[in-house]
Amino acid sequence: MKDFVKIRHVNDHFVKIKCRNCGNEQLVFARISSQVTCNICGSTIAKPTGGLLAAAGDLVGGGKDEKPA
Ligand SMILES: [Zn+2]
Repeated sequence: MKDFVKIRHVNDHFVKIKCRNCGNEQLVFARISSQVTCNICGSTIAKPTGGLLAAAGDLVGGGKDEKPA
């Protein structure tokens, strides 16, 4: 079960999301129009919400809503 966290603010056009499944860190466009899957394991790591994305992994860069791992 994955929790998607809606990102409210980004510092850049991209955010880096760490996949919870395999640990891959992937750069994702902050305003996506379709789901983004991990390049390594295929898990969904971000989905569109109508504005900024919602991330299923930990933000490791680019976002202001970063939380400690
Ligand atoms: Zn992965």
